[in-house]
Amino acid sequence: RCGYVSIIGRPNVGKSTLLNLLVGYKISAIANKPQTTRTNIRGIVTEDNYQLIFTDTPGIHQQGKNLLNMTLNSEAVAALESVDAIVMIVEAMKWTDEDELVLKRLKHVKAPVFLLVNKVDRIQEKNRLFSYLEKMAAKYDFKEIIPGSADKGINTDRLLEVLVEAS
Ligand code: GDP
Ligand code: MG
Repeated sequence: RCGYVSIIGRPNVGKSTLLNLLVGYKISAIANKPQTTRTNIRGIVTEDNYQLIFTDTPGIHQQGKNLLNMTLNSEAVAALESVDAIVMIVEAMKWTDEDELVLKRLKHVKAPVFLLVNKVDRIQEKNRLFSYLEKMAAKYDFKEIIPGSADKGINTDRLLEVLVEAS
């Protein structure tokens, strides 16, 4: 099997961290500041029975008015067409207007969208996490919602599994 997967989400949710973890080396720059990823970066995961080609997109930005942000946004949108699956990443317990903007871009998307609720390693109160997951489920017809951590590798095996199934 071979599939194309786009990773989208607002800046700083952990897109590049996820790509690096899946690919197994530092292909995409990680930083605590937004706009570290300025073009779509591809990473390939090859196993005996499948190959997944990932695209790490620049975050979709709210301030689309300046030239850099306009370019970043169009790169991110172009990456949503003709893919087999999309991974949207959000931060656990932290939903912002920029996440809302990312959702808007998914309106006419045909590929299945998987939601990674990232950075759960930071969350102590599991009950609050559960209600956050419920809130996420109401926002979009996600194929599956996966709470996990790109940094710590929590549930990322499950994510790979569903992506292989979708490809
Ligand atoms: P991007 O802008 O979406 O590509 O986000 P990055 O991958 O550059 O990550 C932004 C920041 O979040 C970095 O400081 C990462 O180390 C941190 N980060 C990413 N994933 C996790 C996670 O699962 N847990 C925690 N605690 N931090 C994370
Ligand atoms: Mg990045």
